[in-house]
Amino acid sequence: MKSSVVRVDPQTPQRDAIERAAAILRAGGLVAFPTETVYGLGAHALDPNAVRKIFAAKQRPGWDPLIVHVRDLVMARPLMKRVLPQFELLAGRFWPGALTLVINKAPQVPAEVTAGRPTVALRMPRHPVAAALLAAADLPVAAPSANQFGRPSPTRAEHVVEDLGDRVDLILDAGPTPMGVESTVLDLTQSPQVILRPGGVSREDLEKILGEVSLASSVSDELAAKGLHGPGMTTKHYAPRATVELFEDARSQASRADELRRAAKRVGIVDTSGNPEQLARTLFAQLRELDAQEAEVILCVLPPPEGVGLAVRDRLLRAAGVAAEKPTRDGQDSRE
Ligand code: AMP
Ligand code: MG
Repeated sequence: MKSSVVRVDPQTPQRDAIERAAAILRAGGLVAFPTETVYGLGAHALDPNAVRKIFAAKQRPGWDPLIVHVRDLVMARPLMKRVLPQFELLAGRFWPGALTLVINKAPQVPAEVTAGRPTVALRMPRHPVAAALLAAADLPVAAPSANQFGRPSPTRAEHVVEDLGDRVDLILDAGPTPMGVESTVLDLTQSPQVILRPGGVSREDLEKILGEVSLASSVSDELAAKGLHGPGMTTKHYAPRATVELFEDARSQASRADELRRAAKRVGIVDTSGNPEQLARTLFAQLRELDAQEAEVILCVLPPPEGVGLAVRDRLLRAAGVAAEKPTRDGQDSRE
């Protein structure tokens, strides 16, 4: 099966396309759709068979739980065991937006979605296409990034076609996604709260509301950025096919590029000339593009670990395989 791709306006999506996508979701099919972060691969979150199709299409391992997307707080509340005041506070402040909240789940959320965990990850996306789809489908939609597991996340419909082009019922193409980096995942079941994955909502913005927020230890280990040059022993995520090497400054990158070129290596360099928001927006597309150009080694200067730069560093370190990744049972893992 070749997936159908339908172009929609990113601001005011065409009604017929949204209705068609919503009908597919209600019937247990798969729809790829844009969010403000990256493209998601959506399925009816309360239908275990539909959710299993996501794992099969992405070749995602069963231990990696999915984010459930909701239309509003009214749709979110029945998915939680208890509605915490902190949840209301954060959702009130950051939804719709790039903040995913992890909270104890209600029994109706299937184990397939949460990979058997007692918690569920919830987000209300801001993108008009995602919002229209959730409203039309009128059901919670489980949606991880619409890439093949381990590959850079899709920020354009073309990336979804590249990775999953024969495994999705419908792809809604609204052009490039505005942020380009995934949502921040914040665990509200731990006290104090922990950022499991840095993303589109900055740690600084969360701290304005919550006071100091810690980073999951796997994330802070990575951000300590030990051994920037050597790929680690771990599985790579967000990763292009080429080897990725990271630098704290442009001068050390330039001398490494010279060295590699003298050794007749095909070198690709990530364009970091804009601000960190621009880098976030283009990073995954750049990694895919450099792969297409058959770079053997991709070099990139890391942004400072502030604002969205924290998330960009995290993804780059994982792409380089520096990340200290190991799945744990308690929700500390924040891969892919
Ligand atoms: P993706 O949607 O592919 O970007 O990945 C979803 C992210 O949310 C992954 O990092 C998951 O580990 C994380 N996640 C989803 N559900 C949970 C949960 N119940 N507890 C902890 N992390 C979660
Ligand atoms: Mg993903």
